[in-house]
Amino acid sequence: MSLIHDNLNHIENQIKEACERCGRKREDVLLIAVTKTRTAAEVNEAVSWGITDVGENKVQEIMDKYDDVPGDVKWHMIGHLQTNKVKFIIDKVSLIHSVDKLKLAEEIDKRAREHGIIADVLIEVNAAGEASKFGTDLEGARQLIEDVHNNCPNIRIKGLMTIAPITDNPEDVRIYFRQLKGLFDSYKDIKDNNMDFEHLSMGMSGDFEVAIEEGATMVRVGTAIFGARNYN
Ligand SMILES: *Cc1c(COP(=O)(O)O)cnc(C)c1O
Repeated sequence: MSLIHDNLNHIENQIKEACERCGRKREDVLLIAVTKTRTAAEVNEAVSWGITDVGENKVQEIMDKYDDVPGDVKWHMIGHLQTNKVKFIIDKVSLIHSVDKLKLAEEIDKRAREHGIIADVLIEVNAAGEASKFGTDLEGARQLIEDVHNNCPNIRIKGLMTIAPITDNPEDVRIYFRQLKGLFDSYKDIKDNNMDFEHLSMGMSGDFEVAIEEGATMVRVGTAIFGARNYN
């Protein structure tokens, strides 16, 4: 018996049911296992049960675990990214979810150019306008998207990400997911080398079912897979 396996089975059912409730296909939602504070062994166990994508919120943790997680696992940078640390992960992550400033985008662009790659990113939107959170506000998002689109030839904007406020009732945050989906949809038809909106990264352990109902294509789930985190 494995707790991680049991949890993943349960979450898989919840994702399927949420998709059924809103007429979406299961394969249109990617489960990203958030492995912050977890060991490489725990990451590898989740991978052995079918996880293909893992999310980390600290550059250091990606560096520490990267070589100990073999295979073609995709790494997602989901946390606040400092400009001076972009160089450590630019060739390791498949998607950076947390672009919240042009300055950060410009650094990602520069490092991507050095590696001869196009970096896929999401724009992080602080949909609820919480002072404690990173991300551009809803009004600033359009300007940031335009600035990144116009100034960063080695970046491809793949969509949007948000972290909803913590709440006991996920219905409270449905409105923020819906607003983000509205913004997302307004860019869906613009496709060029630097913009291809495909991903809407929203929903965590407490609210991923509502996020799926509102159009999430990526959910980032940690606690519901691995249990409560211990930050000691
Ligand atoms: C930690 C974290 C998650 C996962 O949160 P859980 O509540 O443990 O599922 C998702 N997204 C981001 C950006 C995180 O930092």
